[in-house]
Amino acid sequence: VECTLVLVKPDGVRRGLSGEILRRIEAKGYTLAAVELKHATPELLAQHYAEHEGKPFYAPLVEFMLSGPVLAVVAEGQGVIAGFRSLAGATDPTAAAPGTIRGDLGRDWGLKVQQNLVHGSDSPESAAREIGLWFPQTAA
Ligand code: ATP
Repeated sequence: VECTLVLVKPDGVRRGLSGEILRRIEAKGYTLAAVELKHATPELLAQHYAEHEGKPFYAPLVEFMLSGPVLAVVAEGQGVIAGFRSLAGATDPTAAAPGTIRGDLGRDWGLKVQQNLVHGSDSPESAAREIGLWFPQTAA
């Protein structure tokens, strides 16, 4: 069955929205295969966000992701990779549609990085890579 890596980012954990975000994943019918509160490290984030290295928002993004704990989640279900990105909504919370996690719960705080509550893998290859990074003990 398909799996994706979801992160409740530090803004979501800080604002007490972890339960609401997990509730939406479960209410959609996906299964939680792993849930763990973690502190990211610079090394882990360098790997997780390798594709963004060199972009203007990269340093503020890493700093934000180190600003507090992250809830790492493996969600399972048919089509969950695209399905969770649809639940999450557009990257920019101001543009995200009502009904989505970012659209309902997020806003633009005028900061250097979009504090947009969640991350979701964008392809099967990213999901396998990211699950291995955040849950190394479960890697084959
Ligand atoms: P994620 O990968 O976290 O699910 P995404 O795929 O919607 O989000 P990406 O383009 O992969 O977005 O960017 C990763 C993260 O970097 C975003 O979630 C956001 O926090 C931040 N980010 C992306 N683009 C910008 C930008 N132009 N300005 C500020 N922050 C940004």
